[in-house]
Amino acid sequence: MKKIIIAIDGHSSCGKSTLAKALASHLKYIYVDSGAMYRAVTLYFMRHSIDLTQEKDIIDALNQIKIHFEIIDGHNTCFLNHENVESDIRTMEVSNLVSEVAAISLVRSKLVEYQRAIGKDKGIVMDGRDIGSVVFPNAELKLFVTAQTKIRAIRRYEELIGKGFDVRLEDVLSNLNKRDHIDSTRKDSPLIQADDAILVDNSYLNREEQLNKAVELVQKRQ
Ligand code: C5P
Repeated sequence: MKKIIIAIDGHSSCGKSTLAKALASHLKYIYVDSGAMYRAVTLYFMRHSIDLTQEKDIIDALNQIKIHFEIIDGHNTCFLNHENVESDIRTMEVSNLVSEVAAISLVRSKLVEYQRAIGKDKGIVMDGRDIGSVVFPNAELKLFVTAQTKIRAIRRYEELIGKGFDVRLEDVLSNLNKRDHIDSTRKDSPLIQADDAILVDNSYLNREEQLNKAVELVQKRQ
């Protein structure tokens, strides 16, 4: 079978990563969560009180940052400078700042370079906001995943509660709306559905139905 690149983009908490992980495991491909990279940079900036208006401080900080992933207990786990930050990058504090950090071109160019390097041998499923439009414009399969906002907020809320975070549904909903707005309106690499991306609305699909749909699309491209 020919190895391909699969780009999965979409709004916040639409189930992209659930689909991307399931698809990667089904195909024995590498899964890359590009959102985790933006979250890790945001965590570093928060910890070091980086002023987002100061280019030089941002460049210096980016030079100090190394991100990598490891599979721990079957879960894709993000490391920032060799520290496991998988839980720390999922807090509401990080969620509330990440879209502002992700709108900074210096941050994007560093992470896009890293994402392309990981994808050079293909056999990869990467999810994010600009994967089909910017990172891998020649990806063999591009999916643009969406779901109704209220449904997305409830799923995200339940996921966070399940992980032991103390959050309120209304805060989760307003965070999703805020991130979607910033992500879709920023100048550099806004969230858009690439012309050749296939729209998947999973509002009323369960995980298995969503995966089956994607596997069918992959088979046509291998
Ligand atoms: O995927 P996740 O929701 O964890 O991503 C967190 C944030 O990172 C997004 O709201 C967006 O601002 C940013 N992001 C991005 N480009 C990507 C992936 C994530 O701008 N490819």
